[in-house]
Amino acid sequence: MILTFEEARRMVEDHASLLSPGDYETLDLLHSAGRILAEPVTADRDIPPFPRSTRDGYAIRAADLNQLPAKLTVVGEIKAGSTPTHPQPLNSGEAFSIMTGAPLPEGADAIVMIEYTSLHGDRVAITKAAAPGENIVPQGAEAKRDSFLLDRGTRLNEAAVALAASVGKSRLQVFVRPRIAVLTTGDEIVDLDAEIGPAQIRNSNSYSLAAQIQQAGGEPVLLPIAPDEPRRLRELIEQGFQSDLLLMTGGVSMGRYDLVEQVLAEMQAESFFTGAKIQPGRPVVFGRIRRGPDCSCGADTPVREILAASPSLNKSDKYFFGLPGNPVSTMVTFELFARPMLEALSGMRPRQLSFLHARLKSEIRVKPGLKRFLPAILSGQYEDSEVELVSWQGSGDIAARSRSNCLIVIPADREQIPAGEWIAVMPLR
Ligand code: AMP
Ligand code: MG
Repeated sequence: MILTFEEARRMVEDHASLLSPGDYETLDLLHSAGRILAEPVTADRDIPPFPRSTRDGYAIRAADLNQLPAKLTVVGEIKAGSTPTHPQPLNSGEAFSIMTGAPLPEGADAIVMIEYTSLHGDRVAITKAAAPGENIVPQGAEAKRDSFLLDRGTRLNEAAVALAASVGKSRLQVFVRPRIAVLTTGDEIVDLDAEIGPAQIRNSNSYSLAAQIQQAGGEPVLLPIAPDEPRRLRELIEQGFQSDLLLMTGGVSMGRYDLVEQVLAEMQAESFFTGAKIQPGRPVVFGRIRRGPDCSCGADTPVREILAASPSLNKSDKYFFGLPGNPVSTMVTFELFARPMLEALSGMRPRQLSFLHARLKSEIRVKPGLKRFLPAILSGQYEDSEVELVSWQGSGDIAARSRSNCLIVIPADREQIPAGEWIAVMPLR
């Protein structure tokens, strides 16, 4: 079951839409940045709560400026923070000096910017006409009292945090971070503190995945390294299914010791794809294990029986990815496929993957047939963004990936892309 990139991505998005987040917790607003909102936030009053001046200048009646220059009597000053019911309403022939953010006095219908005025004693001369409403935000124009400002599922970025602050929400309900199990496989892989033999490889995938999981809003749960031996592998996979999502790396290629798919098949796991026409990351696996609503359904219960018992998704049903072991493939396939599942488990509203564009610095030639996501450097300044591939030794080259800051996205049907073409890029953090 090898899908095109778009089919595979679509498959993941469809399954992600079946997921629901876990519990919620209450956090101080200050600690809520980056988390996913679990409650709607509404306006506690109109925003702005009064007609607000957007300029320093004079509050006037627009009709008083039909003849220019107009000379009006300054009857007072309104600072930001002054009560909206200022001492007296504005009469024809009068002006209030007013500051940015201050409430418009009754009777005024426009603000003339200070640049178009000159003060002579208690009289102000105005040299520019104003349309009614000029330089004023009407009461409630940004939001009406009780209207929805933020929905459940919003990631709390600085704007969402500011909006919550503006309506007095000092504490917010957010979803608990999903727990994402990470299981690295391979006899040659050793952990960082162990003595390393000449043919052994240090485990880097668990750490890159942990970083990506944290960045995407999940809590990584690192399992011990699994050997290429089915019994221990199965034990650790079982442990992994205690988390909300299981990410395995390695052991999904075609080699004799690539046992992940075999063990998952023994466990009656369904797989939705066992490869995608991409590079890096072709042998990526996506699937689900169904355990049914009652604990009597064990690993050996046929999937047919579980499905018959509970056709819709159950809390004990768990999704998994078998990500290819090559470190760059692991990182790229996490971004392309695992991230949307993690985001759905974290309660985030789904979003589509979209790419930015930059001008290609030097020609690219590739063999067609696979959609490529190749490490590249995005540079240039302002409107002039340029991109070029980093030279690399293939999908094991972590150093090349660390020199890159984006992926160039090459459609599967392209063979040659000339320098100067605007090309899709996927920025990396
Ligand atoms: P595999 O997918 O198991 O065939 O592994 C592909 C390549 O990735 C091999 O060269 C592995 O040594 C390497 N690899 C697998 N797992 C890891 C890991 N956790 N950290 C670093 N390299 C790995
Ligand atoms: Mg391996």
